Amino acid sequence: MPSFPVYLAHDHMQRAEDFAQDFVGGVSGKIVHLTVDSWIDAPTQDEYDHAYDSYDGFRDRGLGALANLHVVAGGPANNVRVVREFRDLETAQHSGQFAVIAGNEGGKILGSDPDLLDTWFQLGLRHVQFNWAMPNKLGASQDQENDPTQPGLTEFGRITIENMNDRGMIVDVSHSAPQTILDALEVTSKPILNSHSGGRSIADKPQNLFDDQIRAMADNGGVIGIHFCSRLVLGANGVQAEIADVVKQVRYVADVGGIDVVGLGPDWVLGDPARDEPYLRNTNQKGLTWAKGLKDSSELSNLWDPLVGAGFTAAEIEKIAGGNMLRLFRDVLPG
Ligand SMILES: [Zn+2]
Repeated sequence: MPSFPVYLAHDHMQRAEDFAQDFVGGVSGKIVHLTVDSWIDAPTQDEYDHAYDSYDGFRDRGLGALANLHVVAGGPANNVRVVREFRDLETAQHSGQFAVIAGNEGGKILGSDPDLLDTWFQLGLRHVQFNWAMPNKLGASQDQENDPTQPGLTEFGRITIENMNDRGMIVDVSHSAPQTILDALEVTSKPILNSHSGGRSIADKPQNLFDDQIRAMADNGGVIGIHFCSRLVLGANGVQAEIADVVKQVRYVADVGGIDVVGLGPDWVLGDPARDEPYLRNTNQKGLTWAKGLKDSSELSNLWDPLVGAGFTAAEIEKIAGGNMLRLFRDVLPG
């Protein structure tokens, strides 16, 4: 167990047994992405394809996942706390509970009515990542980065950021188009998150960030969660990353943006038997791998010694592991 708090910026595992594994693996808490802007575990490819370009069913699936999270947290073991206010993180830590920040990978759950955000807030949602691979009513996604007609952040996106700032919800620009990210940084009055990414000049994938974007996130006081997925760590498909490659990404982003911008966004999504098969089929990602030795939270402690070996001090590793996320939570969440 590490002697420091660990907070993950991006993860999809949300069963009671997943939270238990996280806790044993030394994780204090995480932003769990309840659903994604594509129906990743749709029962059939047809249903997945239909949902891809529509809003059908996303709000309901999001509500179902959030309700389920509250069921897990309300279980008799009382070992999971859904974070509504910053002080809940401290309470969770003192009482040996795993802290969960309810979030979502994509804005389709918000529909198109700004007033709906209040309902989500009341239900406990504290984070929205604006985009996945496709555009939505909030703004352009990474897949449109070279489309000269794409709008960046839309007017609805702008209002949503202001409302999220007012309420104490975390804005996440991972997967957004560079223009959307630029617009979001201009509109927001609070630090923002880029939850699962890396340095694009050493791994050329649209989800990763150019050096000027890394610096802009640092200027905002935001956090970039470093991804553990092989193809994003290395910038190529069909490859197997090692822990050293993840450490290289951490080092790169820290060198460009400073130590205060670096966090961890492993994006673990595999290991739920009910979801793995449809997810890999629907998204055509068979052969998807995470860095060897970091395949899930039970292996997270494998990262600490290589960070020491790369020259990071104990204080710097604390910031990377959770200190910077904790600062973001303090700056953004209510109370
Ligand atoms: Zn993602």
